[in-house]
Amino acid sequence: MAMMNEILSFADELLEVDNYNDYCPNGLQIEGRSEIKKIVCGVTASQALIDSAIAQKADLILVHHGFFWRGESLPIVGLKKRRIKAILDAEINLLGYHLPLDGHRELGNNAQLAKLLGVNIEHWFGATKPEICLFGSLDAPTSSEQFTSLIQQKLARTPLHLRKNNSKCIVKVGICTGGAQNYFESAIEQGVDAFVTGEVSEQSYHLAVESGVDFYSAGHHATERFGVQALAKVISEKFKLESEYIEIENPV
Ligand SMILES: [Zn+2]
Repeated sequence: MAMMNEILSFADELLEVDNYNDYCPNGLQIEGRSEIKKIVCGVTASQALIDSAIAQKADLILVHHGFFWRGESLPIVGLKKRRIKAILDAEINLLGYHLPLDGHRELGNNAQLAKLLGVNIEHWFGATKPEICLFGSLDAPTSSEQFTSLIQQKLARTPLHLRKNNSKCIVKVGICTGGAQNYFESAIEQGVDAFVTGEVSEQSYHLAVESGVDFYSAGHHATERFGVQALAKVISEKFKLESEYIEIENPV
């Protein structure tokens, strides 16, 4: 058993939340009971994740996509009311880390995806401070087809691969998980051979063809499953708590 306030200060400090200017609150989003025995983690605080956490008798739900996004409608009605009521009734704590969990140099979604794909991190780039996109290189030149298979194998889903109509070798890779297709041009400027992100836009195709840089849309959910698991592992080891990752399938 551990105290929620101790877990919170540990996680806030570890993820350096004060360094980020985010569009949702990072840290404790909904307060529940003060003593924690079990953590459930997942990508998004959807009703399905909340229901599973309640069924698992969790005291703490740890997510990458929590609540209260800038620009969203404020009244607590409809779906939002149902989610929040379920959490409050069960006295569960909702702990959410967004950009800090994309940008953390070891536990973050990007660092974890780089590790999974064998990309050695060289530097970070992007418009946010601290930057959350990474530039790295593969150990050996890899064909686009081999790189597609690697992503498919590691993420258990086929990425959408946009490219000029010829096969080429990939060494330098840009990674920015989630909905980061708008960083494709910055990645091209960094001199990458390929860019991996979660989502895709219409213009991503033209940028890929005109720049000759391969673009991989590997899924917003699929590319952001690893940060929250790495963080939950560190917290559960530090405080000797039970922790479980719940995969809620999402094709996007
Ligand atoms: Zn995301």
